[in-house]
Formats: sequence, C-alpha cells, structure tokens
Amino acid sequence: MRLLLVEDTVSLADELIAGLSRHGYAVDWLADGRDAVYQGSSEPYDLIILDLGLPGLPGLDVLQQWRAGGLSVPVLVLTARGSWAERIEGLKAGADDYLTKPFHPEELQLRIQSLLRRSRGLANQPTLEAAGLQLDESRQCVCSGELPIQLTAAEFRLLRYFMLHPGQVLSKSHLSEHLYDGETERDSNVLEVHVNHLRRKLGREVIETRRGQGYLFTGVAR
Ligand code: CA
Repeated sequence: MRLLLVEDTVSLADELIAGLSRHGYAVDWLADGRDAVYQGSSEPYDLIILDLGLPGLPGLDVLQQWRAGGLSVPVLVLTARGSWAERIEGLKAGADDYLTKPFHPEELQLRIQSLLRRSRGLANQPTLEAAGLQLDESRQCVCSGELPIQLTAAEFRLLRYFMLHPGQVLSKSHLSEHLYDGETERDSNVLEVHVNHLRRKLGREVIETRRGQGYLFTGVAR
C-alpha cells in the first residue's frame, strides 16, 4: 500500500516514515500544503496522512480541495492536542479519521489498517482474511489454518495488497504504483519473482496469471 504523508515537522515526519516503512508501507512525504493538493490528486495513493497546520496552504483547505475534486482516498488527519474545533472541522471537510498529537505509533498503525480494510469494504474483519489465509500485520506473517508461514518484507507487502483486492485483476504496473514510493525504481521482473515466491509458499492456485492483463488473487489456499 502506498501512503502520502503531509507533515511539516521534519522530526515527526522522519519518525513516521521510518515506522510506516517498517510496517511495509511505501511512503511519499510532502511538507507543503500546495504541493499536497496537486500530488494527492495526481498519484494513486491508498491512504493519506494529513497534518492540519501546514505552510503553503492549511491542511483543512487541502482536504476540502481534494474532496471537491472528487478524491475519495481515505484521509487520516493529525490534529493538535485539545483542539476539538480542528477535529470537527477536519471531519466536516471529509476526513475519515483523526489522531491527536502526540500519539502512540501503534495507534497510528492500527488506525491505518482499519481505514484500509474499511475502504476495501472489509470493515467487519478484525484482521485481514481471504479464503483460508489470515494476515498477521504486526508480525508480518500469514496463517493458513493453524500454520504460520513466514514472509519476507517484500512478500508481505505484495500479499497484503492482494488480500485487500481479492478477485480483482491487477496489472504489474498497477501493483508497482501501489507497492513502491515515487522515488523507487519499479521493476516488473522483481514483482514476478515475489509472486512466484508467494505461490511456492501458499500454493500455485492462490495467484492466477491472466495473460496480458496481470495477476488475480483468487485466495484459494492449498
Ligand atoms: Ca504542522
């Protein structure tokens, strides 16, 4: 999953980027509200974390412009402590959730996971599940029944994306756009290698190849 972080406090941004990367998210970072308006609507993000106090353009205006332009990506707003007015304005402007600074890193991870599941229509699941597989997002492994299967970081990122999009044909370029940040060079051969590793671990039938179209996560476990 690819996230946009809009936060002008560099030390907090650094900390968040490190934590999000450890949890397998590709993160693009911006500090300026005007840049955020443009990039948020032109790049295919899965979720946006938006600070409200920003140089260039206030976060609230950024959010209003995104929503007015039809952007439906889930947005998690970061607000100042004690500012209930900010929280209310944020929700009114189209925020899906908010976190008050300072917050515990784990709370951010759990809110992101739940927002992503909700945005994919999987809000009823406490953890990510698809046909016999349960993804443990904190330990970054997958369980088939009782049996835990270890995953590399790249396999975990790919499998999470597949499990959030079951039954959907995903082209290699689509997958690359959602698994790598804007700076990373995208190599579809690498993606192919990870798909094959996942098949070896989970069973061939879990991921189908649709010639000329891409991959389909069927979720049919062995
Ligand atoms: Ca700020």
